[in-house]
Amino acid sequence: MKSVKELLSSEKPQQDITVAGWVRTIRELKNIYFVELNDGSTVKNIQIVFDNDAISNEEVSKLTTGSSIKVSGDLVESPAPLQKFEIKPKKLQIYCINDAEKYPLQKKNHSFEFLRTIAHLRPRTNTFGSVFRVRSTFAYAIHNFFFNEGFFYIHTPIITTSDCEGAGQMFQVTTLNLEEIARSGKLDYSEDFFNKKAFLTVSGQLEVENFAQSLSRVYTFGPTFRAENSNTTRHLSEFWMIEPEMAFFELEDNMDLAEKFIKQTLTFTMNKHPDEFEFFDKWIEKGLLSRLDNVLNSPFERITYTEAIEILNKSGKKFQYPVFWGIDMQSEHERYLTEEYFKKPIFVTDYPKEIKAFYMKRNEDGKTVRAMDLLVPKIGEIIGGSQREDNLENLLTNIKEKNLNEEDYWWYIDLRKYGSVPHSGFGLGFERAIQFITGMTNIRDVIPFFRAPGWAEF
Ligand code: ATP
Ligand code: MN
Repeated sequence: MKSVKELLSSEKPQQDITVAGWVRTIRELKNIYFVELNDGSTVKNIQIVFDNDAISNEEVSKLTTGSSIKVSGDLVESPAPLQKFEIKPKKLQIYCINDAEKYPLQKKNHSFEFLRTIAHLRPRTNTFGSVFRVRSTFAYAIHNFFFNEGFFYIHTPIITTSDCEGAGQMFQVTTLNLEEIARSGKLDYSEDFFNKKAFLTVSGQLEVENFAQSLSRVYTFGPTFRAENSNTTRHLSEFWMIEPEMAFFELEDNMDLAEKFIKQTLTFTMNKHPDEFEFFDKWIEKGLLSRLDNVLNSPFERITYTEAIEILNKSGKKFQYPVFWGIDMQSEHERYLTEEYFKKPIFVTDYPKEIKAFYMKRNEDGKTVRAMDLLVPKIGEIIGGSQREDNLENLLTNIKEKNLNEEDYWWYIDLRKYGSVPHSGFGLGFERAIQFITGMTNIRDVIPFFRAPGWAEF
């Protein structure tokens, strides 16, 4: 059995090949049936030309869009202009005739919104097939990048008892009987499964930092969960995050790595999927290829938060949210900086300590921390990272200032007691990155089955 992709990239014609897939279209012209077959190996279809010779037209005419078949025959040069090869069939096996009347994908050009309600069928469309092929390769590219850079992959836990960011937007994990508690009015976490409150993780960073203190270069890449009620095109309740953590890296090294990481994984993925990227450029975002080209070929700009605020203030633009030193920049601010002002990806560093997490390293000015966010056109923030606070006293002060409980972080604090070293890391939202490289505008359309407020179907 050959895949459609293998056949289409064949060097020369071949005799006696077998291929299987689903009929995309079937049309008849002067007693010849032309079937476009797709098996998901590529966005392209292979054409099978049934000329009533080896297989009767009566048999072929039963086929409908979505029907599944296996065909044996010869791969021959195609007289048609846009394709090199087609199949001259000798044998047809029909697995299943699709009921075209009822098939939800019979009609072309469904809205993405409608396709979300049939998420079990949408991978059959060109768009979603392409997104998920690219998603798979991009994940591989990420592992490949880290492997080549000498990193070790650490599987951090999904169930946690610490609230990493202190943000209070976590899903609780419990085996307590809620009905019983409602009835009795008694709640005792010491009787819960873990004898204390537990959650789904919002980030593997704190755990992976432990491993950076022994294996030096590590990363985690797994699912993370946020119970925030954000109905936006950039937020999911369940998403995947890539979080490298490097001992002996300072903020500059962290940015160097992040830039190299984005460029190399993007290049790898684009090289493996020229047809898919051409498809995205044509149907999803006009100009995508030149936008990505610009990302690959320009050095990312680096500015401080203070400089960013100055630029915004001098822009003469009317923003919905006011701009002054101390604000947590909104998407409109971030996008002005990266899309209009610099017209390329930018790192913004040294944010006010009030708006950043407790684990970020303080600057000497006492006001800012060694944070870095990577902002990109179309999306805004795609990476958030920092150099971590490696000084025990400063870390304890930060924990106090953020009103967190020291006891909850005892093992994290231990790292600063025993052989503490400067170290840095960042987090990349995997789905945001896929939006960025495919041009898909809604994050719900780049994950196989999305979870969002009010939605966990399929
Ligand atoms: P935002 O301000 O956009 O909500 P954040 O500041 O909460 O992001 P972090 O906590 O720094 O984000 O998480 C690291 C990365 O994870 C972000 O840069 C982003 O790419 C991604 N991310 C964060 N929240 C979500 C979400 N709800 N759905 C998908 N990706 C997310
Ligand atoms: Mn958020």
